[in-house]
Amino acid sequence: MITGNVLSSWWNDSFLEKLENVEQLFVNGNADSSSLFLPCCIMLLVFLWVIALIWVAKDISVRTKSTVAFLWALFCILIFTPLFGLLIYLVLRPKKTLDEQLKRREALETTVVECGSCGEINLINNKFCTGCGDKLKIKCRECSKEFSSSYGYCPFCGAPNIE
Ligand SMILES: [Zn+2]
Ligand SMILES: [Zn+2]
Repeated sequence: MITGNVLSSWWNDSFLEKLENVEQLFVNGNADSSSLFLPCCIMLLVFLWVIALIWVAKDISVRTKSTVAFLWALFCILIFTPLFGLLIYLVLRPKKTLDEQLKRREALETTVVECGSCGEINLINNKFCTGCGDKLKIKCRECSKEFSSSYGYCPFCGAPNIE
């Protein structure tokens, strides 16, 4: 021991004791566990915090391209701790991912059609507009297939819509 050494302070002593504890743990497996409890808790907390930040950063970037939302998500974890921050984030985050939003928009575009006369949204199979009664489908003069009356050209053969 270096007790009595002028340079050694109380900090050095307690630090050396901690080191001896770690050594005992590895050699005998019976260190004074109370002195290791706090550092282990802090390490675990820091680890959880970092993992939560990485997860949130990844999750928010597949839901929105907004930089403000990205920073908000990270601050939420930093300020409200991983536990409460994650809960708040999960409640407030955008419900759908960008991929899901795109699929939904594509699905809508293939199931509805806008009336060229009044702008009413109609199901794609409707023959007449539910808003104004106008014809929604016309028969192509070239290939006689039906297509939306708002199209400029037949989507099947390219003949112009002259109605
Ligand atoms: Zn209409
Ligand atoms: Zn045609």
